[in-house]
Amino acid sequence: MPITAIPFDNTYARDLAGFYEPCQPATVREPTLLFFNRGLAEELRLGLADHDATALAAMFSGNALPAGAQPIAQAYAGHQFGHFNPQLGDGRALLIGEVVDRDGRRRDIALKGSGRTPFSRRGDGKAAVGPMLREVLVGEAMHALGIPTTRALAVVSTGEPVYRERTLPGAILTRIAASHLRVGTFQFFAEHTTPQQVRQLADYAIARHFPELAGTEDRYLGFLRAVAERQAALIAQWLHVGFIHGVMNTDNMGIPGETIDYGPCAFMEAYDPHAVFSSIDERGRYAYQAQPSIARWNLARLAETLLPLIAENDGQAIELATEVLDAFPARHRHYWLAGLRAKLGLLGEVASGDSVDTALGESWLDLLHAQQVDFTLAWRRLADAAEGNEAPLRALFAAQPGLDRWLQRWRERCAAEAAGPASISGQGAAAARAGRMRRANPWLIPRNHRVEEALAAASDTGDLAPFKQLLNALRRPYDEDPANARYAEPAPGGFMASFQTFCGT
Ligand code: AMP
Ligand code: MG
Repeated sequence: MPITAIPFDNTYARDLAGFYEPCQPATVREPTLLFFNRGLAEELRLGLADHDATALAAMFSGNALPAGAQPIAQAYAGHQFGHFNPQLGDGRALLIGEVVDRDGRRRDIALKGSGRTPFSRRGDGKAAVGPMLREVLVGEAMHALGIPTTRALAVVSTGEPVYRERTLPGAILTRIAASHLRVGTFQFFAEHTTPQQVRQLADYAIARHFPELAGTEDRYLGFLRAVAERQAALIAQWLHVGFIHGVMNTDNMGIPGETIDYGPCAFMEAYDPHAVFSSIDERGRYAYQAQPSIARWNLARLAETLLPLIAENDGQAIELATEVLDAFPARHRHYWLAGLRAKLGLLGEVASGDSVDTALGESWLDLLHAQQVDFTLAWRRLADAAEGNEAPLRALFAAQPGLDRWLQRWRERCAAEAAGPASISGQGAAAARAGRMRRANPWLIPRNHRVEEALAAASDTGDLAPFKQLLNALRRPYDEDPANARYAEPAPGGFMASFQTFCGT
């Protein structure tokens, strides 16, 4: 039964003529459904429960788009590794339409790898099975970790080869996003059109993502502040799970504040603030620790596009925008500290001062760095220590004295809280703290060696079992289930030292 009716309501195509190129997906030879996110389909109210894999593959390959789909390639520009490229755009993606989900949120449905578009430049418009399944694994893991992200609805293999360094099986990903508006979208229209068109885009973004600002007097400054606020929070969340995006170009920074564009991203194992895995990031521009300042840099590029809307007087517009940008590090710090306290098991209700807790967190991270301790396991084992079980934590550290000193400080800080007005004391308090910590510190992250293992099986031999098992495990990252123990272990010695991710996915 072919899929005929999806309740599309395509505001971007309708309201923003001139901001995109209509474009049809390429027909593919032999579409086969590799992955379908049933839960997400239900959330989107797509009404696909009765359709079989053949019908789903026909739709999600782009071979048989349902009525109401209106495929378009969106225009955008972007700073790539600091260099401005005025003309990027969807070179291998198509927005096929928007739906309103069961919570009333508007979501984009887009195909990635669906063939050439007017923005393809020299690219083939295609994608390969491995990188698209990688986007599923990492995106679903991020979602399960509670981090805003675009999500994968489906992956279809095309039955056609894709030519990279070697020949790979082709695939198309269906990506769901709050929208695909990027900093680079604003840059494109600021570069090529008039302030009126930038205003039209900003009004669209405000109506869609920040409706509370619509009609307010200083809404464009408010818009900049709101986008910055979401990034400040998002990047704090990244840091707290050891996530490195890898290619934070302005075209890969989303206006809605979702993690978008899973290219050369990776999670670190041993804590290292300078960690970078992307093969093309030779100078560490997008290293773990650089991410907050890069976000601010990207927001400055967004601010530049909004200046004519912020105030008529250029000097005044710059002054107002600069205030927002200058506030960004403190806003990020605010979210980071809140996340840190949760990870440390602190309620944050005791007047211990931000600087005391920041110093406590930073000295913990210094300790992990100095002893090259696995970031995820260290936090998780600290929860055990909160309940008096220190051995698993101690086993992660080669040298104990530094850890002893730090644990002493941490216990004093916890005790100060336990002595506070609304405290429960003793065993109950310890168990409650450990429980809170286990909800703030995941046991599972998508470890790179496990991801690579699953993708190699899928891509090289068509065996999807390791991918499915890993995906199932990653959907419950906070549950310490012995059946998933192999996914919690760090990579064997040497793997991470030579691990690199690649952009040309
Ligand atoms: P990305 O590095 O994935 O964020 O992509 C940067 C730009 O290159 C975007 O404009 C993409 O649409 C474009 N691009 C990436 N891969 C391809 C491809 N295989 N064919 C055409 N365009 C591509
Ligand atoms: Mg991109």
